[in-house]
Order: sequence, then C-alpha cells, then structure tokens
Amino acid sequence: MEKLSNPQKTIEIIKKYEFAFQKKFGQNFLIDSHVLDKIIAAAGITQEDCVVEIGPGIGTLTQYLAESAREVIAVEIDRMLIPILEETLADYPNVTVINQDILKVNMGKLVQEHNGGRPVKVVANLPYYITTPIIMNLFEQHVPVSSITVMVQKEVAERMQAGPGTKDYGALSLAVQYFSEPYLAANVPPNCFMPRPKIGSAVIRLTLHQKPPVEVAQEQMMFRIIRASFNQRRKTMVNGLNNSQEIPFTKNEIQSALRQMGLSESIRGEALTLQQFAELTNRLCAGGA
Ligand code: SAM
Repeated sequence: MEKLSNPQKTIEIIKKYEFAFQKKFGQNFLIDSHVLDKIIAAAGITQEDCVVEIGPGIGTLTQYLAESAREVIAVEIDRMLIPILEETLADYPNVTVINQDILKVNMGKLVQEHNGGRPVKVVANLPYYITTPIIMNLFEQHVPVSSITVMVQKEVAERMQAGPGTKDYGALSLAVQYFSEPYLAANVPPNCFMPRPKIGSAVIRLTLHQKPPVEVAQEQMMFRIIRASFNQRRKTMVNGLNNSQEIPFTKNEIQSALRQMGLSESIRGEALTLQQFAELTNRLCAGGA
C-alpha cells in the first residue's frame, strides 16, 4: 500500500471511512513526508528499538516507525480509527494497536511484556490537550523509557527548554530538565497537518538522564515545592509555599532555609535554578533550616 504521508492519500482514507475529525481528541494528522523523516531521524530509531506511539491516528507516523523499528506499540483512544488502522497497517506485522486512553495504560506492564522491561522509545504527534499529563506520567512513574520524541505546540517546546528568569520558565521546564535533556529538532508550521492547527508546532526530543543532574532526597516533595512556587507567579516564593496545602513547612522554616542559601526572602520561584530548588528541598526535609 502507498504510504499515507501526503494529503491525497489521507483524504482518500478519511472519505472511504467517512471519518469525522474529533476536536476533543486533538486530531491533527500529519501530511508532510519531510516532517515524518525528521521525527524518525530525531528519535534515532534503529531495528533494535521497541517504540511506543501515542495516538497513531490513521497510522501515518506508525508506518514510518514500523519501517525503522523492530516493534511498534500504538495506543489510540478513538475506536473509530481502529478499522482504519487495520487497513493502513496491514503490511506491518511488527505493529500492535491498543485501543485505550494512554493515561490509563499501565506503561510499566506494557514495557515488561513487549520489551522485557528494557527501555523503549516513545514517539508521537501528541494530542495537544494532554501533552503535559502524558509526559509527566512517563517521568514520574519512572517508566523505562530512553527517549521521548514528540510533536508539541511550539510554546510548550519553548517552556520545556526555558531557563530561570525567563517568562517561559516554570514547573514544566524544571520537570523536563530534571528528568531529561531537551533538544529542539524542528519547527513545524500549521500547513503540515490536516486539519491545520491554529498555532505553530515543534518536534522536541527528551533524552532521559541515567541519573538526575541534581541530588534530592525527596523528589516528590521537590516537585510539590516547585508547583507551589509557580502557582502564584506574581507572589514571593515564601507566600506561594505558605499558601499551599501541599507544603508542610512553616513560613519561618522557609524563610530561614532561603537565608541559609544566601537568597532573599522576597525571591520569586522564577529566579531559582533546579539546583537551588533541590537544595531548598533538602534543607527543608532535613529540618535543619
Ligand atoms: N499520529 C497521527 C499523525 O501524526 O497523523 C495522529 C496525531 S493526532 C495529533 C493525536 C492522536 O492522538 C489522535 O489520533 C487522537 O485520537 C489520539 N488521542 C487523543 N487522546 C488520546 C489518549 N488519551 N490516548 C491515546 N490516544 C489519544
């Protein structure tokens, strides 16, 4: 079968199955072969790899993945796409399609079953309405993943790479940089999709760290502190943390920890580096502050 990566073939399939695009599932299908090649190259897929694709749609990226990888597991929520995928992926015996919500899949079990627990590569043109939960789940549940190469909104890619003191810096930047090394592989304009999204997109690769770049005794507590610090961006960190139900430390403890780190009590979260968030967490958890 001819590959799907062009508008004519995509339209043909859509018409044949009378498929109606579902906005609620973030359905914007890729129709540009150059972008597909770039995703495969950025992900560095080899014949050794077991790849998990999130949201195969009509199978456009899946076909490319199936040709480069040993095995592909594609998780798609929309059951209307399943008969389409049966046709478009018929020539690829190394693909397994699972009709489920990715946020409900037990990824650890899936990786165990399909790759003996060894790290998989995640590749996806993500549904934009759940980009952050999908990525955070993979990170926080410590799913064995070596890299995540995904199409996201351009502004999300910018947030992932942002550093302290910039307007894009926030909880997502810190989580991404704690767990991985981000690399912007390509900017992708709206005309590479059908239907066209309103905003620009980007392909970003997150290579997971073997070991986090900072040492923190209580990882979950550090992320609670980070979230609370950015919840009220315009407030000082001390007030942000003090107002949060998730934070068990007193205002005094927080002020004293900041002082010991040589930081101002009126500092805002956006000024702290990952290293400083780790140090603050370690001091607060050690109770010596
Ligand atoms: N991979 C295809 C492509 O590049 O042309 C489709 C990408 S489209 C942006 C996102 C896909 O994710 C859609 O097929 C959509 O139905 C699917 N999707 C949305 N929410 C999902 C979820 N919670 N779990 C699994 N798939 C989901």
